Amino acid sequence: AMYRAKACGKGRFEIFHKDFHHKAVDAMEMEAALREALSQKAFPVWFQPIVDLETGKTAGFEALVRWQQTDGSMVSPADFIPLAEETGLIVPLGQQVLEKALNTAAAWPCMENQPYLAVNVSARQFEEKGFADMVAEALKASGFEAARLHLEITESLLFSQSETAMDSLNRLRDMGVGIAIDDFGTGYANLACLRKFTLNQIKIDRSFVAGLPDRPECMEIVRSVMELSSRMGFSVVAEGIETNKQLDILKSFGCPMGQGYLFSKPQPGDLLFSHPARSSDC
Ligand code: C2E
Ligand code: CA
Ligand code: CA
Ligand code: CA
Repeated sequence: AMYRAKACGKGRFEIFHKDFHHKAVDAMEMEAALREALSQKAFPVWFQPIVDLETGKTAGFEALVRWQQTDGSMVSPADFIPLAEETGLIVPLGQQVLEKALNTAAAWPCMENQPYLAVNVSARQFEEKGFADMVAEALKASGFEAARLHLEITESLLFSQSETAMDSLNRLRDMGVGIAIDDFGTGYANLACLRKFTLNQIKIDRSFVAGLPDRPECMEIVRSVMELSSRMGFSVVAEGIETNKQLDILKSFGCPMGQGYLFSKPQPGDLLFSHPARSSDC
């Protein structure tokens, strides 16, 4: 069965079941399917390169979860992460993604510049008391270096004022794990109020990159984010670069890193290094 859920307001999901010709099915049915998939570990993790815009070299990879259906097709996380968050299933799901991503990354071939691994984390996961311990365990089990792991969090987490979440953030920082603010610009944060948190990176949301160069407000936002970030010492990644024009503009604004279909779509981990020229001896 193939499920597609679309969040439509808090607690409501529009779900389509392909066998029933787009008949809406119950959110509970999809929750049950998610649980079943969790027990089967049917969530492949794909990777998208994050590129150094100056050199064109790969600086890191972002891990992006997929849901594999019985017919082999993949469901986009945009279609099931909202329900996973709503039901709390994002906690075990997020752990599976982290462990899988770390184990895959630990086996990456040696390269000149060891790429970092970026993993998305929902606010709900940070609300779990043992979150930082779980990350420490997963790092240890994989042998992947803490300093090469970035966790991508959203602005809303920083403003939740949750003590549990802030404790975990501080512990992770002490472990050397990098923290990136995802989808920057879509929430309430401005760069000045991010100053009080220890952050490493800002990711400019794809919606702003998509507006380059035609929408003046996007040009202005991206330019000013770049200016302030470099003054505040944050590194910046621009999401969703699709054209050379966007790439040129981002470079002219001094944007150091980016990801997008122009470079590569997300792909399964075993395809990343299928290029024969790569050597793994170092
Ligand atoms: P995101 O964190 O903003 O991730 C970037 C999304 O943009 C990915 O979609 C990626 O495939 C897509 N993308 C990258 N470059 C381009 C481009 O040039 N053009 C276009 N049109 N799209 C591009 P994806 O993989 O469908 O993931 C959607 C969202 O689901 C992610 O947005 C993230 O918020 C969430 N997500 C994915 N994996 C996880 C996970 O393991 N845990 C959690 N909590 N959320 C996840
Ligand atoms: Ca992300
Ligand atoms: Ca995101
Ligand atoms: Ca985004």
